[in-house]
Amino acid sequence: MQSVKYIQGLLVIYDQFLNGMMVNEKSLDLEICLRLVVFLCKMKIGGFIKTSLIDFPPYVCCVVFTQGCNFRCYYCHNPELVYSKLFGPIVPMEEIFCYLLKRKNLIDGVVFCGGEPTIQSDLFEVIYKIKNMGFLIKLDTNGSNPEVLEKVLPFIDYVSFDIKAPLQEEKYKLVCRTKVDVSKIIESINILRNSNLQYE
Ligand code: SF4
Repeated sequence: MQSVKYIQGLLVIYDQFLNGMMVNEKSLDLEICLRLVVFLCKMKIGGFIKTSLIDFPPYVCCVVFTQGCNFRCYYCHNPELVYSKLFGPIVPMEEIFCYLLKRKNLIDGVVFCGGEPTIQSDLFEVIYKIKNMGFLIKLDTNGSNPEVLEKVLPFIDYVSFDIKAPLQEEKYKLVCRTKVDVSKIIESINILRNSNLQYE
């Protein structure tokens, strides 16, 4: 019974954290929340740039590089985020949340790129949390997961969509070196076109 109450208490604190109500970074509650974040997050992060002036203009942002991609583009500039043999150490989610909490008034936004962020199973949860902390969100995507794109869209401020080739399966296969369901790419394009979001 005691432990049920304890967990319920933690969930209340966690909720407050998600809604940006916790600002005292030294509090024990915040410490517990950060541990919960790490415990609950499954997202694999292969890199983290703390400050960038060029990835989300005109904003000051940090950049989260997710690990793993469902494409194998021959010109890829981030193979260490695509091929598992080249993967480096994972950046703990706790590090990113701590950094964001401390820079709340100095950083405007967070960019999610990769790799391909939409293949991360908890992309929505992570974006939801960071958006609720008051940051703008930019998503870089190859457009292969329209369901995920549609789900995260209400919490996104800008999308950078990389259309790899003319919208034909054989052309996509040539560039991405994997079988791509082009109907998914078209679906993602339509989702963006029908939204009020800024995109490129
Ligand atoms: S979609 Fe992007 S990250 Fe993935 S292989 Fe192509 S260029 Fe690299």
